[in-house]
Amino acid sequence: MYNAVPMQSTCATIAALLGIEAPADAYAPCKQVVNYVEKRLGKPERVIMYNPDAIAHHLWQKYPDLYTPVLELSPLPVPICTVMPSVTPVCFASMYTGVSPEVHGIRKYEKPVLTCDTLFDCLIRAGKKCAIVSTAGDSISMIFLEREMDYFIYPTLEEVNEKAHELIAEDKYDLLVIYNANFDSIMHRYGPESPEALVALDHNCREYAALAELAEKTGRKTALAFAPDHGCHEIDGGCGSHGLDMEEDLNILHFWKCIG
Ligand SMILES: [Zn+2]
Repeated sequence: MYNAVPMQSTCATIAALLGIEAPADAYAPCKQVVNYVEKRLGKPERVIMYNPDAIAHHLWQKYPDLYTPVLELSPLPVPICTVMPSVTPVCFASMYTGVSPEVHGIRKYEKPVLTCDTLFDCLIRAGKKCAIVSTAGDSISMIFLEREMDYFIYPTLEEVNEKAHELIAEDKYDLLVIYNANFDSIMHRYGPESPEALVALDHNCREYAALAELAEKTGRKTALAFAPDHGCHEIDGGCGSHGLDMEEDLNILHFWKCIG
């Protein structure tokens, strides 16, 4: 069974929260998220997207205790079905353009700069500020380049998260996108449920909680999301993979939190 909410809805959800137009062809927003946030915050002053790579829905089903830092903060889990092929550049392109791979054009593991309209272009046209904080060479660091926005690209996860903390405290951006690749790289090598991968999952859940705590200190009305790109499954040899049309790869959970 595939999750009900299409990944492509995420783009218009964020646009609706920030009160701007989504790309013309974007899927409709997830009304559940928009209503949830608006009921608590009205219009949030900013959106922070925490994008940990490859955190599958089935990990939550099997290891709910690891999600405690996320669940204590974010009572709204949204069952998302990502796009095919379920690989990083294809999925993040759909998350931030609101359209399917055949429309945005990234249909395999490649990282061209997108020329179609993205959420970032919509924000810039609306006079809003956005930034991506990510590690060098990763999809999200490459496919949204060449826009009038800020890119903070670092060699290591630690530098990415340190900068993210600084930027949340400075509060200069209407949309801040923070990418963490650690679970994905470890999962590929050791398997999705290896002790090493579960440590990475725990790290991602705690990092989300740390971002929330920092955002709360600023007192700004913020919508914060824990939003992976795709799931993963175990393959022969105890390794991990993704990219296929299967529940393990397509079903993910996004969690939303209101601050302020
Ligand atoms: Zn990925």
